[in-house]
Amino acid sequence: MDYSGWRLLREALRGHRGWRPAWRRAEPRPAYDVVVVGGGGHGLATAHFLARVHGIRRVAVLERGLVGQGNVGRNTTIIRSNYGREANVPFYEASLQLWERLEQDLNYNAMVSQRGVLNLAHTDAQVDSFRRRGNLMRLAGADAELLSEAELRREFPYLGFDGARFPIRGGLLQRRGGTVRHDAVAWGYARSADRAGVDVIEDCEVTGFRIRGGRCLGVETTRGPIEAGRTGVAVAGRSGEVMALAGIRLPIESHVLQAFVTEGLKPILPHVVTFGAGHFYCSQSDKGGLVFGGDIDGYNSYAQRGNLPIVEDVCEEGASMIPAISRARVLRMWGGIMDMSMDGSPIIDRTPVDGLFFNGGWCYGGFKATPASGMCFAHLLATGEAHPVAAPFRLDRFARGATIDERGAGPHPMRH
Ligand SMILES: Cc1cc2nc3c(=O)[nH]c(=O)nc-3n(C[C@H](O)[C@H](O)[C@H](O)COP(=O)(O)OP(=O)(O)OC[C@H]3O[C@@H](n4cnc5c(N)ncnc54)[C@H](O)[C@@H]3O)c2cc1C
Repeated sequence: MDYSGWRLLREALRGHRGWRPAWRRAEPRPAYDVVVVGGGGHGLATAHFLARVHGIRRVAVLERGLVGQGNVGRNTTIIRSNYGREANVPFYEASLQLWERLEQDLNYNAMVSQRGVLNLAHTDAQVDSFRRRGNLMRLAGADAELLSEAELRREFPYLGFDGARFPIRGGLLQRRGGTVRHDAVAWGYARSADRAGVDVIEDCEVTGFRIRGGRCLGVETTRGPIEAGRTGVAVAGRSGEVMALAGIRLPIESHVLQAFVTEGLKPILPHVVTFGAGHFYCSQSDKGGLVFGGDIDGYNSYAQRGNLPIVEDVCEEGASMIPAISRARVLRMWGGIMDMSMDGSPIIDRTPVDGLFFNGGWCYGGFKATPASGMCFAHLLATGEAHPVAAPFRLDRFARGATIDERGAGPHPMRH
């Protein structure tokens, strides 16, 4: 199904009876070259790259529910590459570059909006650390600007500068950062993979792995066994549960993260802004709602709903950063299950089981990683070798003490 202005007009005149599903309702076949477990953004992007870049078309994506129902359709849509560790910046910058051409690559409108992402600094020490981060970003080819308070007052007049409890001392701006319509990303990758011959199979839960002599030969599913030359797992918040089926214990905990949307407002917030004295990030959707979030709930859970203390915390931080926000009414909130790794950075690697590969530990940052994650996981599945920009994201780094601790917070998911 292609979309165009002409098609829209034609369907409007015909009562919208001619629209077709964007991808086939595929039935599972007995065997594939590659099986990808998880039909979220990462699983679908992996299938797209396997088929389109590596020419591997006997691929199935197995999704226990419906495409887009997981975190790929639940996040606050922020993309950026403003990371502070040498291992992370090149990977997220590669992802940002893929976002910049995503709509052309997929021929799909994903509403990529490079409106700028601003991180606020409220202490001199924070300004120093942002200066270091900005320099690292520039060395890796990313854009970064350190703005003074005076410059911020000119460009971001809606922030609470005067009488603020946490005075704004400066900010790190990445103008190429922004937002992307999250569920369109899942739909775009699903359509692209499907057109390249991939079977996107919904309502198909993986319940076990067929492991013989230390090698993974396929999966058990609610729709029968499926043989696979190689199996890749990309199930985000369910990572611990699913990999336990293969006898693998991961350095990952599952926590709830909530998101919030206000009533529709006239345009007041043209950028993505994050608060530096706590954890709060906010943007305004094209429909006018303010979309925001904060910390994870802080306890392990597989429930996709949150709790009230986080609501209070997030709203306090929002009102402190942009006082005008306190007058907006929250319309909706929801939760998603986050795969929090012990150093705040992801894992894209082979596992101790031959033929079984893992992608996860995305914490707060997995949406922005979607294109690069798909590219790198597909590279690993197709060639057996790590893609250069994902080479540091090894599973054994925790055992070796070579963690990539983005925030220097140690093994505490709540602080990443
Ligand atoms: C509230 C919230 C806000 C966020 N905001 C941002 C943000 O602004 N920017 C950012 O970069 N990141 C953000 N994230 C993180 C980001 O959404 C995730 O890291 C990312 O989407 C995870 O990858 P995915 O899209 O593949 O996950 P998912 O969409 O969750 O995909 C995993 C899929 O695996 C399926 N699955 C699980 N178990 C099985 C099984 N046994 N068999 C078959 N299928 C299975 C699930 O049903 C699911 O569809 C946010 C997350 C949340 C919850």
